[in-house]
Amino acid sequence: MKAATKFIHAGSHPDPSTGAIMTPIYQTSTYVQEAPGKNKGFEYARSQNPTRFALEEALAVIENGKYGLAFSSGVAATDAVIKLLSPGDEVIASNDLYGGSYRLFTKVFEKFGIRFHFVNMTDTQNIHSYLNDKTKLIWIETPTNPLMNITDIRAVAEITKGKKIYLCVDNTFASPYLQNPLDLGADLVMHSSTKYLGGHSDVIQGALIMNDEILREQLYFLQKSCGAVPGPMDCFLVLRGIKTLGVRMQRHCENGKLIAEFLKGHAKIKKVYWPGFSEHPNHNIAISQMRDFGGMISFELKDESVDAAKKVLSSTKLFSLAESLGGVESLINHPASMTHASIPREERIKNGLSDSLIRLSVGIEDADDLKADLHAALG
Ligand SMILES: *Cc1c(COP(=O)(O)O)cnc(C)c1O
Repeated sequence: MKAATKFIHAGSHPDPSTGAIMTPIYQTSTYVQEAPGKNKGFEYARSQNPTRFALEEALAVIENGKYGLAFSSGVAATDAVIKLLSPGDEVIASNDLYGGSYRLFTKVFEKFGIRFHFVNMTDTQNIHSYLNDKTKLIWIETPTNPLMNITDIRAVAEITKGKKIYLCVDNTFASPYLQNPLDLGADLVMHSSTKYLGGHSDVIQGALIMNDEILREQLYFLQKSCGAVPGPMDCFLVLRGIKTLGVRMQRHCENGKLIAEFLKGHAKIKKVYWPGFSEHPNHNIAISQMRDFGGMISFELKDESVDAAKKVLSSTKLFSLAESLGGVESLINHPASMTHASIPREERIKNGLSDSLIRLSVGIEDADDLKADLHAALG
């Protein structure tokens, strides 16, 4: 089945009791049992909920995986992956990571004795010097947030192959429309479903998708034991969001290309970060693992002062100044003071994330209106 069809039919089955075409929101905490120990497979909603199960099936289908698990946020999904590890274990992670992942790793898990190495993964050879017999997980994000660097997923999978090291890819920016990491050799895919999967900026949620049954058992155990499960209403919203992922992403990509080209041609702009440009340093890898380039773009002004950036950030009308991304509406963001404020400034600058960098999540509005909005804000 092709992707456009999968997005619409994944996890959808007429409800057995009424034939309802849409999965009902099973807003219940518990299930009545016929006799002690005799039930319909549903005992308590932290462990089992039919709306969540339908979503988890859909998540597996759209990422070409066997199993999906839904969590109460993207960060909760990440938290579950790190809880597969034990004190003394080591993780190698991308150095320009989502700020919340960096905070979780360094501020929460380091004190439990897990060690994290942050590495520039645009050259996968850099991984080798950090590999040792304590390495249990490689965590990559591609494209990265917000610098749009690309990591070669196949090349990292070659490194972990045959070793007891999980490779987890945060696929939030690409979405399954653009990239399927399990097909490229990853063991786990993580999503902040809050973004493109939900697609309407109305829900916080996370996901993990995998093929390995033992890994699924361990992560299901963590999901129910630690309890970061999404509610049924939120599962319904993400199920509904996934149905339009194909058409939304198609438009995000079209608009992304138009806006990236517009910015590149603008006199006030120094640099545009977008993997679709042939001069992007990882353009060929992007082509080899992604179907298109998406709607996430970052740029720097020629005037590198924070004030110049702030002026643009507060002048757009259609691009709303907000954290997050992946919704139908366009957003503009200042990573240094917003999404990436939890990363120490020195670390940020070292990784190329300047104080004046601006990030766009290009929505699915008319591209002419978006261009006019940016044109006016750039002055
Ligand atoms: C938003 C985001 C997360 C965290 O997800 P939440 O749903 O906000 O917890 C992780 N990774 C990336 C790339 C994100 O954009």
